[in-house]
Amino acid sequence: MSKQSVRDLAVAGKKVLVRVDFNVPQTPDGGVADDRRIRAALPTLRSILDRGGSLILVSHLGRPTGDPAADAPFRLDAVAARLQELIGRPVVKAGDTVGPEARAACAQLQPGGIVILENVRFNKGEKTGDPEFARRLAGLADCYVNDAFGTCHRDEASMVAVPQQFPPDRRAIGVLVEKELMILDTLLRYPKHAYVAVMGGAKVSDKITVIENLIKKVDRLLIGGAMTYTFLQAQGIAIGRSKVEADKLDVARSLLDLAGEKLVLPADHLVASAPEAGAATQVVGRAEIPEDGFGMDIGPATCAEYGAIIKQAGTVVWNGPMGKFEVEAFAHGTRAIAEAMAASSAVTAVGGGESAEAIEKFGLADRVTHVSTGGGAFLEALEGKSFNSLAVIPDRS
Ligand code: ADP
Ligand code: MG
Repeated sequence: MSKQSVRDLAVAGKKVLVRVDFNVPQTPDGGVADDRRIRAALPTLRSILDRGGSLILVSHLGRPTGDPAADAPFRLDAVAARLQELIGRPVVKAGDTVGPEARAACAQLQPGGIVILENVRFNKGEKTGDPEFARRLAGLADCYVNDAFGTCHRDEASMVAVPQQFPPDRRAIGVLVEKELMILDTLLRYPKHAYVAVMGGAKVSDKITVIENLIKKVDRLLIGGAMTYTFLQAQGIAIGRSKVEADKLDVARSLLDLAGEKLVLPADHLVASAPEAGAATQVVGRAEIPEDGFGMDIGPATCAEYGAIIKQAGTVVWNGPMGKFEVEAFAHGTRAIAEAMAASSAVTAVGGGESAEAIEKFGLADRVTHVSTGGGAFLEALEGKSFNSLAVIPDRS
């Protein structure tokens, strides 16, 4: 069942509060380091403006502490400036979220106008879901749109209590959330087989529930990244000085039992003399990691094997880099997976903070079906969780 969409809302002459996720990576001087999340919201924003609606944008940025001086870098001025460039219309930035500036700016809004409110997490009521705060925020607008996929797993006021302030027929999801949910539906309910999951990244402990949920659905689970060594050690294979979660060996063993033949561990590894650029490297077989070696990436035989499986798949979901890809010498495995996904005719989805960053860095983000804008939200959805923020948006009638 699909949710009521922004495209279903009658927005002409209406002020539409759009909860966006402009929680962008920042440069050291508070600029926008990566505007992917801002660009991702543009289809929803344009859809409202083009139909004669006006926009009241609400977002968080970073983790404000409550101390105004320390929180200054989390003001949304740089985000507002970047949005104005991207959308090509004036954007009015309010200095508060529900205070006099916000109220005045929203009162003056005309069709086609855009106001962005100050960082919603500057208000204590946001985290606590305070209904009084929600009432004041909702009072600024006529309807509500959730296009903040990256925040959908949070129960904060602007995600749950605010939409509840509007009549159900004035709540909707945006185009981005719609697209993310469509892909998740494919991954969780209607995958085309062969269905392949590729999991890597820093820790197996972050991904246990995802693996438990996906293993029931996929045909293959290809493992890479640092979690490899926890699985190997759990099997009694020596891993040298590679990263390992020594307290997760039992968990790794039970995941191995649960997954059986579906779970594939790397056939070879790129091992380095130190976990940093410039270290001496060598390729070794699955169970041949030297005592003083650090496993930093999957090896070439694994790249070829995983690549072939991905190219023949019907659906591929990928989370977690195959190695420490931030160092060029350890990026081959991650790049090989990205290239195989780009070359595959399967439905291909990538999610997770660093995974998305990696595929962007390789210039292949446009060659896969979808790169999720949600790190935590994407993983929680793959765990099989449902979100309160979406439960409050009615199904399409
Ligand atoms: P995502 O954000 O995509 O979910 P994670 O947060 O789980 O991914 O993990 C990403 C991090 O894992 C990367 O920063 C990468 O450097 C690190 N990593 C992957 N493989 C290794 C490895 N073999 N050794 C050290 N770090 C690794
Ligand atoms: Mg991460």
